[in-house]
Amino acid sequence: MLDQRTIPMAGADLDETDRQAVLQVLASSRLAMGPWTEEFERLAAEVAGCRHAVAVSSGTAGLHLLAVCAGLAPGDEVITTSFSFVASTNCFVYEGARPVFVDVEEDTGCLDPRLVEAAITPRTKAILAVDVFGHPADWDAIDAVAARHGLTVISDPCESIGSTYRGRPMGAEGIGGSFAFFPNKQITTGEGGMVLTNRQEVAEACRSLRNQGRGQTGAWLQHERLGYNYRLDEMSAALGASQIKRLAAMIERRAEVARAYGEALAGDERIQTPRVRPDVEVSWFVYVVRIDPAYDRNAVMRALAERGIESRAYFTPIHEQPYIVDRFGDWGGRLPVTERLGASSLALPFGSAMPPDDARFVAASLRQVLDQLARR
Ligand SMILES: *Cc1c(COP(=O)(O)O)cnc(C)c1O
Repeated sequence: MLDQRTIPMAGADLDETDRQAVLQVLASSRLAMGPWTEEFERLAAEVAGCRHAVAVSSGTAGLHLLAVCAGLAPGDEVITTSFSFVASTNCFVYEGARPVFVDVEEDTGCLDPRLVEAAITPRTKAILAVDVFGHPADWDAIDAVAARHGLTVISDPCESIGSTYRGRPMGAEGIGGSFAFFPNKQITTGEGGMVLTNRQEVAEACRSLRNQGRGQTGAWLQHERLGYNYRLDEMSAALGASQIKRLAAMIERRAEVARAYGEALAGDERIQTPRVRPDVEVSWFVYVVRIDPAYDRNAVMRALAERGIESRAYFTPIHEQPYIVDRFGDWGGRLPVTERLGASSLALPFGSAMPPDDARFVAASLRQVLDQLARR
């Protein structure tokens, strides 16, 4: 079929203002550590409703710096979830800490706070929870159990820029969190991230750590600690500053696409659409449905691909990744909700640049594919 269109998973939403912002940097000649980084940080702190924002080179880099700030060291255990993108576990494995996976809430896919207590050992140092697909974790319950046991909380809001939990914007829960700006996220800088925190000492440490461990005085060849080159360049920061000014509009467009999917898929018992708790507002990162286990989710993906529609198995659980099994053993069977979600979740094409009509077309195609596939 020559005229068949392809509907991609996601596409960056760039406009002329974004392009002009980047060109302005190129016309200046100050390409790193300049005013755009500061401006982007100011705007990001506003969005996250927190005191400090520190721009970094990726979401993963930001999470890694928070693991360093938490003082995690070899032998420490971190309670976290496996239904996530690998970076939320890698960020503390870099420091030699071990993941202790707990299962997730059936409706949100986020860490289930009721399971934390049973996972605590004398080596437990921290809890790292993820706002999955933009839906905030149950932060008050997580903070309460962490406070009872003297544990540090780290948040991963890489997917939840613009979401709120009980009226609080996501970003700086716990000692802090990091946004991510890869092109599939709500806003993009190409590659980039942003640490958000209300703690001065965390912000200062992150500013030093991202800049090769240099001190506050900025002396170029004085290094106070083992640091990294996790800086964000000015072209990326200018793009981020331009994009974040349009965040509210882009979130609204994503919500429109999510509504189009929700309406087109409503009432089909083979497809469970995302659930949103009443005390949160979700900034949609992806649109993930769950396919009735009577159907082979991977066969659904293949059939969609034949119709030119991309889709993804979001997430393949972290504990099923080969290197995690090699290092930390086989967690198979111990995380039943995570494994069920991992086997049935299907992310559909999504984004603020996607016309709602494309969502209706994808939804209709998904229903046709299920009509044609045999139940197992
Ligand atoms: C995207 C993402 C990250 C990592 O962000 P990068 O900028 O790609 O390094 C971390 N955690 C979660 C949950 C993510 O979705």
